[in-house]
Amino acid sequence: MVHVAGPAAVAAVDRCFRAANGPPLAQQPFGAIRFGRWSSETGEEVVVCRTADDRVEVHCHGGDAAPRAVLDDLAAAGCTVREWSGHSNDADSLIEVEARRALADCVTDRAAAVLLDQLGGALAEAVADARRTLAAGKTDDAADQVAALLALGPLGRRLTSGWRVVIAGRPNVGKSSLMNAIVGYRRAIVFDEPGVTRDVVSEVAAIEGWPVELSDTAGLRDTDDPLEAASAQRARAAIESADLVLLVEAFGEPITPGTSSAEDLCERLGLPTPSKPIRVANKADLAMAGCEPGGEAMAVSATTGAGLAELVAAIGRRLVPDPPPPGRAVPFTARQQERLTRAAAAIDLGDLEQADGHLQAVLAPAD
Ligand code: GDP
Repeated sequence: MVHVAGPAAVAAVDRCFRAANGPPLAQQPFGAIRFGRWSSETGEEVVVCRTADDRVEVHCHGGDAAPRAVLDDLAAAGCTVREWSGHSNDADSLIEVEARRALADCVTDRAAAVLLDQLGGALAEAVADARRTLAAGKTDDAADQVAALLALGPLGRRLTSGWRVVIAGRPNVGKSSLMNAIVGYRRAIVFDEPGVTRDVVSEVAAIEGWPVELSDTAGLRDTDDPLEAASAQRARAAIESADLVLLVEAFGEPITPGTSSAEDLCERLGLPTPSKPIRVANKADLAMAGCEPGGEAMAVSATTGAGLAELVAAIGRRLVPDPPPPGRAVPFTARQQERLTRAAAAIDLGDLEQADGHLQAVLAPAD
């Protein structure tokens, strides 16, 4: 969507847009959604809406070419083209600008709800409150307030980047099938020949409402095949940077019969030991009645869907054990967190003036 704003917005769009129902945009009612053509009788089909005297939305096809053509024509009509970055004439503070930018990158409702709270002032109020506490000489309380904000920093950063969950295990245990079952459609290639997934395939899914990038890795095993060795190397790198690893085995074929510790499994697979992986015993549908998976593994079937809801819930709990209640202040950018970290350090050193300066900087006005 191209947003055209300013006193000459309607006139500029009128130079390029022909509404199918006839009248120029200036004569169309506010809020009316008008289908028409851009630039010429045979031009691109677009949908245009005059939302206010000085605001017009142009909805064109996606991709690069269609929006670029609209922008070029508007530039020729006298508009200045700006990258959309959340900047808006009515944003008062940098937090507001950052929240709008983050909302544009945000892919799930739950993450958006947290960011909307910050856009609505939750973070600004909490920081202002910490400043008041500091000014009142209650240094320990102010330190606690800043620490509480910083504790939610990791969650705040993941609202836009997403958490990273890696599915790992030996070939053919059903990793790709599990990924498809969780994401909800066929993304990874499923094949009953071991070693088919050569690269790391990733997809973003909403897990308990949080954005999660799921990666299906190549099966991990000792091999002399250089291609497979290279893909196993990538799988290891993905595991190292993951927030959570699902260690998959096939039900009834535990990797090391008799051992239940995930750390042992990682060692045997030559994996970096992921902190607290979730062990998954897939293919539970093939299990004999009464047969239990080894150790603390969660029994699932990618084929029938059995156990998947429990697995998804467990992933959600592991990634966000303590979801913030509605309205809670959450710092969500590197800038905010760095200032808060420096404020905490300054409070620690007893330099209250500097601490206040950092807190004030979090609340900087939009430039
Ligand atoms: P990967 O190599 O670990 O990624 O395994 P795939 O997902 O490619 O699956 C290997 C084979 O196991 C395929 O034939 C799948 O259809 C089969 N498979 C995967 N999950 C299940 C399951 O839950 N139950 C059964 N019965 N077969 C499964």
